[in-house]
This record gives sequence, structure tokens and C-alpha cells, in this order.
Amino acid sequence: MSFASRMSRVQVSPTLKVAAEADRLRRQGVDVVDLGAGEPDFATPEHVKQAAHDALNSNFTKYTPTPGVMELREAIVQRYRADYGVDFKAEEVIVTAGAKQALYNTAMALFDPGDEVITHAPDWPSIPDQIKLADARPVIVQTHMEDGFKIHAEPIIEAITPRTKAILVNSPCNPTGALISEGEMAKLADAAASRGIWVIVDFTYEKLIYEPVAHNLIKVLFDRMRNRTVVCSAASKAYAMTGWRCGWAIAPKEVIAQCNVVQGHSTSNINSITQKAAIAALAGPQDGVTTMLNEYRRRRDAVHGWLTADPRIICVKPGGAFYLFPYIADLLSPSGIKSSAEFAEALLKEVAVAVTPGEGFDSPGFFRLSYATSIERLKEGCERIKTFVQQLESSGKLTAAR
Ligand code: PMP
Repeated sequence: MSFASRMSRVQVSPTLKVAAEADRLRRQGVDVVDLGAGEPDFATPEHVKQAAHDALNSNFTKYTPTPGVMELREAIVQRYRADYGVDFKAEEVIVTAGAKQALYNTAMALFDPGDEVITHAPDWPSIPDQIKLADARPVIVQTHMEDGFKIHAEPIIEAITPRTKAILVNSPCNPTGALISEGEMAKLADAAASRGIWVIVDFTYEKLIYEPVAHNLIKVLFDRMRNRTVVCSAASKAYAMTGWRCGWAIAPKEVIAQCNVVQGHSTSNINSITQKAAIAALAGPQDGVTTMLNEYRRRRDAVHGWLTADPRIICVKPGGAFYLFPYIADLLSPSGIKSSAEFAEALLKEVAVAVTPGEGFDSPGFFRLSYATSIERLKEGCERIKTFVQQLESSGKLTAAR
């Protein structure tokens, strides 16, 4: 069969691949510790669920306007005003099926064949693949473990060419948990503004920042280049609502109008019931967000401590999101486990721990571990990983550990 040529440039999401294999083992009765999932293990808050029940009971089950009901767009406006002190109008917002569709609509609306879009690696795989699906070319700037995967403006600015259409920054970053500082974002914004380049921020993990650092990226961008800023985010991670599918893009109204055309011809509005739930999440009490954040911080500190107690595992302590990204290249060998992909495969097969190999994030030699699971399972997972690493080193080849 022959497919559109763009299909040969993209691949199935590697995180979903791991999940499928872990699921297969689980169905065979294996006690898998799943550290692959990129989603909160918490339940959606009660008042949010109640709003969905109310929507259903009042038959709020029909099409809505494509960009979302006005009350939800207003709730997004109010949330950002309260959180960041920025002002924009509902016509500058579109509600989407998660941050993923916000980014996808943006790519479709802005990118042309031959355009270059600069982003940074380790990267969340949908970022480069969405750029490719829009027939543009991702230009990847590496960030480095040695300085905590910090996102610096300088190498991104150096990668700008006359073909650069946009710069896409993911902060906090999946998989590294790194943040861009406001100062670096300001430098980027100034460079982009003077050249007419868009800056797109993937702000999906905006609420998951563990230390009190300044991260008002939207204000930095609005102050410098409001007419070329797109901010994409979601209710998914902050409110434990991944399955509900609610995200949004905030951009100049002309861009939102184009996103509206893309969405109007593809998925239309997001689920009507979800929209009512999202209003409750955004406009209601926010203390649940802090409770979850505090628990994630506790887990981050614990898992980081457990893993790095073994000097063979090198791991940056991230500032945000809910992932660790340990470095294991020194444990690989040409005669044994040769790559981080093989490492993850063997880890799942031998000690039943699911993680995502670095290859999926344009970063071989690492793996991603999600700490959005209970502390007991995390402890068990870390013990199994350490057992596996111990065996790897002492035998040079693997023996069954289960
Ligand atoms: N951006 C990043 C960096 C992500 O990690 C994810 C989800 N894993 C998304 C966007 C998409 O989020 P959503 O589920 O809201 O579509």
C-alpha cells in the first residue's frame, strides 16, 4: 500500500508503544511497575466531576461553538489574569482536545513547506512530528545534562535562518523537567520579534513547578511580541484531566480564527460535557493543584534520592513536570545492551519495569521515568531498576531477576 509521503517522516508515539507492551505483559499476569505513563495518577477533583454530572443531567450534550463555549473561554481569560497578570480577550482563545490539538492547530495554521521551526531536545516527540505533519522542518537544538538541560536562548538564536518561521519552547519540558528562565525567554523574544518569527510556548506543565522560580513566560512574551505569541496549554496535567481532552491556544485573534478553521474541518468543538467540567476546574478552588504539586515534589525527591544512591545512575533533579531523565549510556556495551532502547526493553522483560527509552525523545543514552504514580510503586520500581543495573554490571549480560 502506498501512503502520503508525510507519513514516512513521522513515527508512532514511542510513549504509547511502551504502554502497549506493558499492557500486554500485565494481561499475562505479570506485576508490571509502569513508570512510562505521562499522566497524573490522581483522580479528577470531585467538584469537576460534579460539573460534568450536572452537564449530563441537564442534557448539555449537543454541538457547541467550534472554539468552545464562551463561559469556558472567559474562564481561561480569568485564570491567566489571576495567575499571570495578563489581559487578553475570549476571541484570542480556542478550546482544543488537549494541548496536543492546540499545538497541532497552530502548526497547521502557521507552517508552510520549507519553513523551519526551531525547538529543543530532549523533546516530547509530538513536537517535531507535528512540525513534519505540517510539511515544515524541525531544527533541533540540544540541551545538556551537564547544566541541568537548561534551555538557553543563545544556541536557539544561532540556529535562526531566513527560513525560520517559529521557535517552539516547551517549559517545563517533557522529558527533562527543565525550565527556561524569564531572562532567556526575553532574549529569545527580542531576537524573534526583530525578525518577525513566531514564538510558541508549550505550557502544558505550567502548574507543575517545584521551586519558587519566576516563570511568567506569557507576560514576558506579551510585553515584547504579543502579536507573534502563541501559548498552548491544557487542563490535563494541572487538574488530573488527561482523559477529558481539554486544552487551549492563546494567540492573536487572526491566528485563533485560522485554528478555528482547521478545527472546524477536523474535530469541531471538544466534548460539551468536558467543557462544563473544565469551567469548574479553572474557575473553582485551586487548592487541589497545590496538594498534587506537593505530592509530586515529595516523589521527585524520593525517587531522585533512591536512584542516585547508585553512583552508576546519573540523574538531574528537575525543576518541573513529573519525569526524571536518567543517563545510562555508561552502562551500555557493544557486547551486551547496546542502546537505551534495548535497555528499556530488557528492563521490562527482566524486572517488569516500564520506562520510555531516550531514543523517543531524540536523546539516546537516557530513559524517561514518570513519577506520577504512588510512592510505594515508585520504591518498588527503583529497587528493581537498581537490581537490574547491578546485574548488568556484574555479569556483563542479563539474567532473569523476577
Ligand atoms: N505537550 C507536552 C510537552 C506533553 O507532555 C503533553 C502530554 N504528554 C502534551 C503537550 C499534550 O497534552 P494533552 O494531553 O493536553 O493533549
